[in-house]
Amino acid sequence: MPFKNLVSLPSPMELPPVERARRWWRRLTPHRQDRVAMLAPLAAVLLFFAAIVAALGYLRVEEIDREREAVQRDVEYTQQRLRLRLLERQEQLMRIAREISSRELDLDDFRTRSESMINQYPELQGIAWIDDRRRVRASFGTAVRTAHELQQTFDPAKRNDTDSGFSLARESNQPVYQQRVWSTEFAPLLQMHIPLNERGRFSGVLMAEYSVDGLYRYGVPSEVSARYAVSLLDVNGKLLAGTVIPNKKTVTGLLPWTNPTNEYAMPVSPVGSGLVIRAQAYRASLGVIGSGLFWLVATLSVMTAWMLIANWRHTRRRVQAQQALMSETNFRRAMESSMLTGMRAMDLQGRITYVNTAFCQMTGWTESDLVGRTAPFPYWPDADREHLASHLEKELAGKTVPGGVQVRVKRRDGSLFDARLYVSPLIDSQGTQTGWMTSMTDITEPNRVREQLSASHQRFTTVLEALDASISVAPLGSDELLFANKLYRQWFGTQSGGHLQLVAEAGMPPSPTNDESQDSVDSFAGLPTSSLPDTDSENAEIFIRPLGKWLEVRTRYLSWVDGRLAQMVIATDITSRRLAEEQAATQAERAQTSSRLITMGEMASSVAHELNQPLTAINNYCNGMVSRIKAQQISEQDLLGALEKTAHQAQRAGQIIQRIRSFVKRSEPNRTPSEVSVMVAEAVELAEIELRRFNVRLNHYVAARLPLLMVDPILIEQVLVNLLRNAAESIDIALRQTSERIVELRVVPRHIEGKPVIEFSVQDTGKGLAPEVMARLYEAFYSTKSDGMGIGLSLCRSIVESHLGRINAENLYNGTEVSGCRFSFWIPMTEAALPDASANSAKAIKPLDI
Ligand code: ADP
Repeated sequence: MPFKNLVSLPSPMELPPVERARRWWRRLTPHRQDRVAMLAPLAAVLLFFAAIVAALGYLRVEEIDREREAVQRDVEYTQQRLRLRLLERQEQLMRIAREISSRELDLDDFRTRSESMINQYPELQGIAWIDDRRRVRASFGTAVRTAHELQQTFDPAKRNDTDSGFSLARESNQPVYQQRVWSTEFAPLLQMHIPLNERGRFSGVLMAEYSVDGLYRYGVPSEVSARYAVSLLDVNGKLLAGTVIPNKKTVTGLLPWTNPTNEYAMPVSPVGSGLVIRAQAYRASLGVIGSGLFWLVATLSVMTAWMLIANWRHTRRRVQAQQALMSETNFRRAMESSMLTGMRAMDLQGRITYVNTAFCQMTGWTESDLVGRTAPFPYWPDADREHLASHLEKELAGKTVPGGVQVRVKRRDGSLFDARLYVSPLIDSQGTQTGWMTSMTDITEPNRVREQLSASHQRFTTVLEALDASISVAPLGSDELLFANKLYRQWFGTQSGGHLQLVAEAGMPPSPTNDESQDSVDSFAGLPTSSLPDTDSENAEIFIRPLGKWLEVRTRYLSWVDGRLAQMVIATDITSRRLAEEQAATQAERAQTSSRLITMGEMASSVAHELNQPLTAINNYCNGMVSRIKAQQISEQDLLGALEKTAHQAQRAGQIIQRIRSFVKRSEPNRTPSEVSVMVAEAVELAEIELRRFNVRLNHYVAARLPLLMVDPILIEQVLVNLLRNAAESIDIALRQTSERIVELRVVPRHIEGKPVIEFSVQDTGKGLAPEVMARLYEAFYSTKSDGMGIGLSLCRSIVESHLGRINAENLYNGTEVSGCRFSFWIPMTEAALPDASANSAKAIKPLDI
């Protein structure tokens, strides 16, 4: 058995149309629904308009039909009337004709009868009796012409239409109607020829003339002629009588809804096609009414459609406004629920009308618990009820506190928290107050933070107050004192004068208290303040006379809490330290002087040692001169030269003593722009005496175009002589062969530590420096020699370093064997060459490290 659905759901097509339309409507999107809702009335209006037009059109057609029928009927009726009238006359005339035929009527009778007939029937104009030979026997009332004229017309020579009527009547033996217009000056006439038969033989005709105009006037019923333009026409459609509506072929006449001239024509029966009656309906006013109605309906329809469209536009604008309002409302609602501030609205009687989510979350009560409640509210702590009630009373009376009030609030679980309430009036859109809006902020946390802050502030101030340094902060460009600790207040009071004095005396960048410094400070204050506090703090030690204290002053720039650039001054009392230092310094100086005096004795031999060289030279010169004078081998010139040299050596000996003395007295070196080659030549000359003693050869090289050095030449020469002598002694101690007994002195420009210097180096071929000697090389009184003083190198280092140079010693190797050693020192070129710089940077030569 095939499976069959027991319950068959109706397919959409089976549903009733209303239900189908409803479903279709529900399936539409709201936007489409709106559109359909807008279009449907518009379509309805258009349909209505179309229906009205159709109805009007139909009515119009009906009316035209009816009109046409009416015209037809009336024309037929009129034709009947005319026909009857003509037939009646025809009947009477035929009776006369019969009487004539039967000779019952003579000419007089005929005339009488004719006259009475013509008088009786105005359309009948004339009657004539014409015999078979076309002669007029008698005539009456032929208004247009005489019997003679009539006779003439029947003249065979002038045969015309009357004759044809006559002929036709004779031939047909029937009354014959004939339309006749003789001329334009006469009214049109209708002739009737009735044949006369005398005993079966044609004996002439009885001719009657009808005035067409008379026919029209008396034959057409007045009600018909009142309604239509009735006219009588001949066979060619030419107007014979009556009125005609001119047939205007206007544009409106061609339009379908305008009525064409409604007319109807038919031949008048006994006459035949020779006389046609036509009626034209006057233009009915109905058409005008119809079109007026049409325009009314059209105007109303257009207005309705326009109103619908305008309405739709208006609705659309309203919908847009509504949507904007909705999104605004949603936005505000979202904002409100995301807000942490509790909101509560009350009416003027103090009844809660609204609470927001935050308020409910804060208090733990739900919206339904709170809305509609009046005081006392459930979140009032029992203990504060009276206070809160009085506060609420004030609030309702409009006595709000601008800064808000702090209250305690009870949560649903009974716990309490601190809150701050701010009240503002609730104004509706009409501007009238409808209640009060209260915002509530939980200030438990801020309170806690504030307490913590105040505690930390207290700690901070306690520490600052207890500090043994005075701390003050003042903004740049103002006399205001931003902060001062206890010690500052003790020392300087509560004014910023002390602060400014400290800054001024410490020689720090001045704070702009006087106008002169305004500019520089302004530009200074214009710097980004955040960068300033990072700058190093400055340090100075000053003596404040009014306090009688030595203070160590440190200043620092900082951006104050309000963003202003401020200067902090920390002054520490260092009077005791300063005194101790001064004491120590004087003691040290005293000790140093005495130690120098002690050393002086020890140095005597050293001085002797130094003086040995010039004295030896003097001795040598003198001996030489004596022996050469004795041998009389000397010219005056040579003697003068030798004496000059002797004098020079004596002068040098004096200088050495002077220098050593001044050195011991710790005086400044006497710097002058000195030429390197001169210094080297002097030193070589001095040293050569010693070198010769040790049988040591000296090679020296000085680079060309060396600049002047800003040095004390005697001291530098002293260093060179010392190094050369040490080198010669070292070679001598090493017992070198004569060929190896060489000392090399080189002076070259170099770059050391990125600056140009002049390097002096002395290289020997001795045994070099043992590691223990190297370690103690510049120690005073350290010597490996039995007669050595151990002062030379120490003195050399002091001299070199006082000229901002460095001394260095290194061993020279030949493979692994030490082949000698090299002492070198350098003096910076630029600084020494600049008189100002050297004068500024000149330092006292350090006393010997004793
Ligand atoms: P002195 O020459 O009176 O001993 P110095 O201070 O001039 O005093 O020298 C200290 C020591 O350094 C010397 O005793 C010597 O041992 C060592 N010294 C100095 N110059 C040289 C050198 N050119 N070669 C080897 N040793 C040297």
